[in-house]
Amino acid sequence: MTPTAPGALRPAGAVDRDRLLATFLGLVAVDSPTGHEGSIGTVLEARYRELGCSTTMDDIGNIVAVYPGTRPGTILVSMHMDTAGTDRGIVPIIGDDGVIRTDGSTILGADDKSGLAGCLELLRLLQSNRGWTFPTIEFVSTVGEERGLVGSRHLDVSRLDATHGFVLDTAGVMGSITYWSPTSVYLTITVRGRKAHAGVEPEKGISAVRVAAQAIASMPLGRIDEETVANIGTIRGGEARNIIPDTVELEGMARSHDQDKLDHQLAAMRSACQRAADEAGATVDFAAEEIYKTYKIAEDALPYREAATAIRSLGLEVSPRKSGGGTDGNYFNAKGIPCVALPTGMVDEHATSEHIAIDDMVLACQTLVAIVTQPAQE
Ligand SMILES: [Zn+2]
Repeated sequence: MTPTAPGALRPAGAVDRDRLLATFLGLVAVDSPTGHEGSIGTVLEARYRELGCSTTMDDIGNIVAVYPGTRPGTILVSMHMDTAGTDRGIVPIIGDDGVIRTDGSTILGADDKSGLAGCLELLRLLQSNRGWTFPTIEFVSTVGEERGLVGSRHLDVSRLDATHGFVLDTAGVMGSITYWSPTSVYLTITVRGRKAHAGVEPEKGISAVRVAAQAIASMPLGRIDEETVANIGTIRGGEARNIIPDTVELEGMARSHDQDKLDHQLAAMRSACQRAADEAGATVDFAAEEIYKTYKIAEDALPYREAATAIRSLGLEVSPRKSGGGTDGNYFNAKGIPCVALPTGMVDEHATSEHIAIDDMVLACQTLVAIVTQPAQE
């Protein structure tokens, strides 16, 4: 097959590679680190309206854009507007190999601007192919995804009509369907001992650093089993080298695809802390906050079947994917809208090596178009 040269005639219904690329680069140029989604929200809302959607923005900045269908039924398509970390002024570089990267000093923000670009391209195609049959689409663009799915957690889904949906926000091979995601719990552990002068009367002190060290050393961490992981990521405490420290705060997380295994892991971490504290006469506060809940979509459920049909129609193989992390899909599922998550082509998201192949971005967009325009499934 001869590749289509840029600018060559393409069929009216085909994804326009140059236009998709330009849209993506335009979105990357708008800074949107988590908590600073105002500018991109303004840009997107205007685009959605130009392209025929009615839009609403909720009080924290989530945008719902509705494009009316030509057949019954409503689906949800979701992306997030924020980018991980604090990088601004991102400069994308298009390589001779058709891969977009940065110079390595910032992330690229393909997570999740590749998803957003794909949606805008889909809308342009729906506008210019009036004969197509498709359901009403509720495009949900969230804020704060990278800070613990803040936008989808907050979103009032009672205003949505979608029966099921697709979250455009994963890495993974093209053709993958993320059908299973873990529960994630954030941990904040505070150890309290007793302050004393370390040179003059150390006997009077209880070192919170020592208790925390013993707790960490005795708790199961890392990969616990195939479904479960746990980590202590930060440790903060102490005032000076000659003061026995009275407070240490640890931050960590645990995740599992299996609720029982997660409960077991959390109990093991909690008792490691309690044991270390008891031995030293310290106290410990162990706070566990569920950030998102596991979901598992069956192969015969509608979002899975529609995604699989679309993927196969492009000649790709369907590969079921169990993810180690969450997406806004965890909240949509928890709130009663069954969703699968799909790859956008992004690779190494959240790292300065983040990149995306233009071909994969096109393929992801083609998959989305195929999902939307396929005949309705029962
Ligand atoms: Zn993302």
